[in-house]
Amino acid sequence: MLWVNLLRYPTRPFDSLKIIGMTHKVLILPGDGIGPEIMRAAESVIAVLIDRFGLELELERGLTGGAAIDDCGTPLPDSTLSMARSADAILLGAVGGPKWERIERALRPERGLLRLRSELHLFCNLRPATLFEPLAAASTLRPEIVSGLDIMIIRELTGGIYFGEPRGIEIGPNGERIGRNTLVYAEHEISRIARLGFEIAGKRAGRLCSVDKANVLEATELWRDIVTEMGSEFPAIELSHMYVDNAAMQLVRAPKQFDVIVTTNLFGDILSDLASMLTGSIGMLPSASLDIDGKGMFEPVHGSAPDIAGQNIANPLATILSVAMMLRYSLNEPEQADRLDNAVAAVLDQGYRTSDIMSDGMKQVGTSEMAAEIVAALND
Ligand code: NAD
Repeated sequence: MLWVNLLRYPTRPFDSLKIIGMTHKVLILPGDGIGPEIMRAAESVIAVLIDRFGLELELERGLTGGAAIDDCGTPLPDSTLSMARSADAILLGAVGGPKWERIERALRPERGLLRLRSELHLFCNLRPATLFEPLAAASTLRPEIVSGLDIMIIRELTGGIYFGEPRGIEIGPNGERIGRNTLVYAEHEISRIARLGFEIAGKRAGRLCSVDKANVLEATELWRDIVTEMGSEFPAIELSHMYVDNAAMQLVRAPKQFDVIVTTNLFGDILSDLASMLTGSIGMLPSASLDIDGKGMFEPVHGSAPDIAGQNIANPLATILSVAMMLRYSLNEPEQADRLDNAVAAVLDQGYRTSDIMSDGMKQVGTSEMAAEIVAALND
């Protein structure tokens, strides 16, 4: 079968595998740690959509993160960047791990990822936190708190403290080390993400909560002012503002009060990880990072999980759900996306669980077995 071939990974960049047709061009970046395992799972599912349901796409694979450092000394080789530029969408596993933690900061795996987001102008990060009902018991919160949960967290992705200059660690005047990062937001960076927040809220329940720390941080005081000004253009949207510390508390206390949250790079990073536990596990959360035209990079919210890498126990569903987001948001294939989302729901309904979402009476499976169940549900 075609998809058996897809399970082979190139050891060098430039390898590419044309599957069928020329319609969609997708760059696969497995990355490090559990990245190759979860990507293998995702590819087996994509292969069914191609073989059985006529999805036309061409897959290319590239190196990024630690795998690229090992191969060519940089976390984002030029070859990967150029493949990313010419692709219609990018599917990423995860990057990083202890092996690369102590190398020069500018060459670390995460820097490659940040550069990729920045070079492709992927300023809008969508992180849905949706509870699949059969997983209500896997949440650390009581089922009645999380049942029906459906939040969209919109994180600004190419600005804020992750990119602001000056940054670095230096020796101060008295010889002690000083670490410095800069939180900076220009008006256009705030207004383009805020506008998307209003528009997305308009397609959902019509409630937008902007999260900041305007009482302490001037950059987010500007954030609040700009979001408030824009509110007059969207009278149908119920706009609220919340400080990030309160938002963290409210997400745990009564998460269903939220429809759409729009927030800065740092706050969105933290709040979306927190929201992941409401849905059962970080292994369930997909994400999309989009440019102004909707081209995007799709990846699970979690990292490379070096503690469980190579054990075939990682949950592949966040990656598989990221494929569904890719089909929906960048490739304009909503029916294929629905098909995949429904297959995930069906498999959870049948009681299959990886260890991170396991509960009494369910059937525990590994990464590849979970992927095989999704394949079976698609073929049903
Ligand atoms: P992590 O998300 O990798 O792991 C946190 C915890 O969640 C671990 O216990 C891990 O086993 C578990 N976990 C994560 N994904 C899982 C899955 N699919 N199934 C089951 N359990 C899962 O975060 P971390 O430990 O803080 O970071 C590990 C490495 O990943 C670091 O090098 C970090 O820089 C990197 N990282 C990369 C990304 C990215 O590539 N986008 C994001 C976050 C962290």
